[in-house]
Amino acid sequence: MPNSTPDTKLADELARLDDEVRRLEREDAAALADPGMIQEDRDGARILLQNARLAADEARRALERLRSGEYGICRECGGSIGADRLEALSDATTCIECQARLG
Ligand SMILES: [Zn+2]
Repeated sequence: MPNSTPDTKLADELARLDDEVRRLEREDAAALADPGMIQEDRDGARILLQNARLAADEARRALERLRSGEYGICRECGGSIGADRLEALSDATTCIECQARLG
């Protein structure tokens, strides 16, 4: 989308992640209910779900920062994070210099 702003891009991403969480929740519930499923597979389903929830939370926070005007501002130095970095990592909260400094 040529006209997509960070706002719509993040909102789309969040919607996609929320869908993913819902899908994985169903799979997780199905895995728990399936007596034929081994524990490892249940654990795998649980881990996928947890990761998806974390990713959705990150996207939600990024969207909140965007709407409150904090998006793209480094939380360490208060400087601008930079469009290139945000393009690569839409929920970045530090600039590339601080990221390097913090390791
Ligand atoms: Zn910084």
